[in-house]
Amino acid sequence: MYKSIIIGTGPSGLTAAIYLARANMNPLVIEGPEPGGQLTTTTEVENFPGFPEGIMGPDLMANMRKQAERFGAEFRTGWVNSVDLSERPFKIQVEGQGELVAESLIISTGASARYLGIPGEKENVGRGVSTCATCDGFFFRGKKIIVVGGGDSAMEEANFLTRFATNVELVHRRDEMRASKIMQDRARENEKINMALNRTPLEVVAGPMGVTALKVRNNETSQEELIETDGIFVAIGHTPNTKFLGGQIETDEHGYIVVKPGTTETNVPGVYACGDVQDTKYRQAITAAGSGCQAALDCEKFLEGSMVHDWSQSL
Ligand code: NAP
Repeated sequence: MYKSIIIGTGPSGLTAAIYLARANMNPLVIEGPEPGGQLTTTTEVENFPGFPEGIMGPDLMANMRKQAERFGAEFRTGWVNSVDLSERPFKIQVEGQGELVAESLIISTGASARYLGIPGEKENVGRGVSTCATCDGFFFRGKKIIVVGGGDSAMEEANFLTRFATNVELVHRRDEMRASKIMQDRARENEKINMALNRTPLEVVAGPMGVTALKVRNNETSQEELIETDGIFVAIGHTPNTKFLGGQIETDEHGYIVVKPGTTETNVPGVYACGDVQDTKYRQAITAAGSGCQAALDCEKFLEGSMVHDWSQSL
C-alpha cells in the first residue's frame, strides 16, 4: 500500500516524485520501457531553464531521478498492464510484480512520437532524424530540412524550422492536407517552405556524417525520388500512452487524458494526470515538469483528510 503511485518517469513524473517525496508521501514511481521519457532520445537540451550551457537530455533526466531518490521516492521498473480505479485504494497490476495498491495515482506516461518505420530511420535518430523541432531545430541553422506529415504538427514544425533552415521541404503522402486551413495557409505563404505532396517516404539515406537524403515514391508517377537534406523531422503525430487505463479515465478522441481546466484532476477523484499524456498543445519538458508539480500539489491536497488506510500503524 502506497500513499501515491506515479506511473512514468519523464519530467512530469519525476517532478511530481520530487514534490511528493519532499511532502513525506513516500511515492512509488514506476519506470516503464522508456525510463526518462522522450528527453532520453534527444541530445542537447538548450531550453530547459537553469542550464546556460545546455544539458544532455539523458543527464537532465538522471539528475531529476537522483533528486527524487534523495528525498525518499522509491523506484520500480515494470510495465503496468492494467489498473482498477473503481474504488480506493486503487489497484495497479505490474507485469511480473503482481498487484500494487495506492491511495492516489499520478499518470505521467507521456506520449510517444510516431515514427515512419522505414529503413534508416531509427538508427539515425539524433544523427539528422528528429521528432521535435523545438528541441533540435537550432542545430540545423543554414541547412536544408525535410518535414514529413500533413497535419497541424507538420505545418507548425515546418514554419518554426524556417527560422533556422535555408529551406524546408514538406513531404506529405497525399495531395490533400489534414491540417487546418489557417495552418496550411501559413505554411503555403512561407517562401522558405516547398510542398512535396503525393510523396511516400521509403528510406532515410545517411552517410558517415548523418542524414543526406530521403528516398520517396512519387505517387503520381510511381517513380522513386531522392530529396537531398541535412535533417528529417518526422511530424506524423504522437500516441498518448493511455491504453493500460482500459477506458476508466476520460480521454479525448485521440486518447489524451482530459483534465479539469487549470488543474491535473481527471474524472476519477484521486487520479491525476500530468505531462504529455494530457497535453496536446505545449509538449515541452518545462511545461511537463510544471504540470508534474501541479499534480503533486493537487494530490497532496486531496489526500489531506481523505486517506482510506490507517497510516498511523505504519509510521
Ligand atoms: P495528425 O493530425 O494525426 O496528422 C498526422 C499526419 O501525418 C497526417 O497528415 C498523416 O497523413 C501523416 N502520417 C501519419 N502516418 C504516416 C506515415 N506512416 N507516413 C507518412 N505520413 C503519415 O497529427 P498532428 O499533426 O500531430 O496533430 C494531432 C492533433 O493535435 C490534431 O488534432 C491537431 O489539430 C492538433 N495540433 C494542433 C496544433 C495547433 O493548433 N497549433 C498544432 C499541432 C497539433 P494522412 O493525412 O495521409 O493520414
